[in-house]
Amino acid sequence: MEIKPIAPSFAASPQLSPADVARAAEAGYKTIICNRPDGEADDQPTAAEISAAARAAGVDFRYLPIKPGVVTDDILTAFEDTIKSCKAPILAYCRTGTRSATLWAMARSKLLSPDAILAATGSAGYDLGGLRPRMEERFGVDTGSIKPESFDLLIVGGGAGGVATAASALKRRPDLRVAIIEPREDHYYQPGWTLVGAGVFNRAQTTRKMHEVLPDGVKWIRGAVAGFYPDQDEVTLENGARYGYGVLVVSPGLKLNWEAIEGLPETLGKNGVTSNYRFDLAPYTYELVQATRKGKAIFTQPPMPIKCAGAPQKAMYLSSDYWLRTGVLKDIDVDFCNAGGVLFGVADYVPALMEYVKRYDASLSFFHNLIKVDGDTKIATFEVTDGDTKTTVEKPFDMMHVCPPQTGLDFIKASPLADAAGWVDVDQHSLQHKTYANVFGLGDGCNTPNAKTAAAVRKQAPVVAVNALAVMDGKEPVASYDGYGSCPLTVERGKIVLAEFGYGGKIMPSLPTWMLDGMKPTRAAWFLKERMLPPIYWQGMFRGHEYLAQPDMTFKKIAAE
Ligand SMILES: Cc1cc2nc3c(=O)[nH]c(=O)nc-3n(C[C@H](O)[C@H](O)[C@H](O)COP(=O)(O)OP(=O)(O)OC[C@H]3O[C@@H](n4cnc5c(N)ncnc54)[C@H](O)[C@@H]3O)c2cc1C
Repeated sequence: MEIKPIAPSFAASPQLSPADVARAAEAGYKTIICNRPDGEADDQPTAAEISAAARAAGVDFRYLPIKPGVVTDDILTAFEDTIKSCKAPILAYCRTGTRSATLWAMARSKLLSPDAILAATGSAGYDLGGLRPRMEERFGVDTGSIKPESFDLLIVGGGAGGVATAASALKRRPDLRVAIIEPREDHYYQPGWTLVGAGVFNRAQTTRKMHEVLPDGVKWIRGAVAGFYPDQDEVTLENGARYGYGVLVVSPGLKLNWEAIEGLPETLGKNGVTSNYRFDLAPYTYELVQATRKGKAIFTQPPMPIKCAGAPQKAMYLSSDYWLRTGVLKDIDVDFCNAGGVLFGVADYVPALMEYVKRYDASLSFFHNLIKVDGDTKIATFEVTDGDTKTTVEKPFDMMHVCPPQTGLDFIKASPLADAAGWVDVDQHSLQHKTYANVFGLGDGCNTPNAKTAAAVRKQAPVVAVNALAVMDGKEPVASYDGYGSCPLTVERGKIVLAEFGYGGKIMPSLPTWMLDGMKPTRAAWFLKERMLPPIYWQGMFRGHEYLAQPDMTFKKIAAE
């Protein structure tokens, strides 16, 4: 336990254990406030456990959980009311103590000057400088003239695109002032989740701590962006903090819209309903596959666009392969229910995939869009389109793997950076925003018509880095992205059909056909996916090594007519 006193009556602390509570009581604390929601981490003691320990130690306990970076005025009012009604001194905790320190700082900012608050939190080890403008506003200072902290390169999102862009930019210009705004403590290698769902990887292999993956020299601003002010070169966070930039890179991913399917959120993770699209659920897929010995297995695919468009059918192939190997496939009716009308968007790969559809005797139910799930009765409802006619069809299931519908994130949709459909609106070659020249976008959240994959990001990040530096130097973008994306279709355990293609479905193999023929199932492609791509991601992309991803420097702006 590391108690960090901020004021005579208030201290913050990282996560407490029940044993820490007794020590806090001995140290004289009269109230413990928990600001961390239950279930953020597997090894986290619950609020109920801490509350029980507090009761036993004669200390009051309050539960006021907040998500990282989300400090609304309502939460501040609730916190102020809580501390007014508590016995002091108070010890508040979350994962690191930052949320508790932030709440105290903002709650006090109506009474104390920002300088006094930042000195107190700073000496306790919490850098809350980004909150200064919001504190000044609350303290009554005219904020119109105050400039927030600013970076040469400010990146929204510490996922595949954000981290790879930071690495590529710093490789070229090590003294660049770079910050990444990212609310999550954990970074996920999502391409590994298909293999978790097949029992090949365990889920720990697909995650690392955010601070471990950020390249040296990057400042991590832990918070969530709420708004963009591209005319002022500023963004605001959900906690009210503002940051400025020379160039902004937006890579926040997309929204998995589970709520769009009636009954799905309530039944996910139980009643035989699973999804490899969630870190916590991918192991459940493998549990279900092992447990299913007969009956009906449904695999759904929503309307495009989705990230990794092959992932829904990858789950079907690997599950079917397991059932075939264990001799039960003959008793399982496999049904691929696809909102679209083709098995895969690039026709050249379909013959190889159809061989496996036949091998597993899977039904292909095209134009079937999942709209409702009843977990208790295990019935899935689909809207079926036939020309202009729409009907609904109910299908009972024993196991169902769901790929959710996907859209742009709400804070992007509401921003001036979005196109009409809610995606970040960038030029598909330079990846420069179509309206704001010092804003770039990459990854799943953009409207470029490529396959939304980490493979695409691997090629996009160097392009964005080069073009961002050009814009900083007062020049036009020079690097061009060709739409490359890749989808390793895991047709059986040990073999992959490796689809690699660019804009317009142009086939773009990385290796010569004699080494790896992407149109055929090969062991070489499986080896690449299982053994090579994870290190290429962690140690290549995230360290600025651009293997097979050197940017094409021939970008030419097509003059507007
Ligand atoms: C099941 C599955 C299988 C896949 N298989 C493959 C595969 O085989 N090959 C392949 O190449 N790709 C695959 N992908 C796709 C790949 O993971 C994504 O295309 C890639 O991660 C996109 O990177 P990104 O940076 O756009 O988004 P992400 O990596 O999702 O990162 C976005 C980041 O932005 C952060 N963020 C969100 N909101 C905010 C905010 N308000 N403020 C600040 N930060 C914010 C998020 O917390 C997140 O960390 C797969 C994905 C899934 C789910």
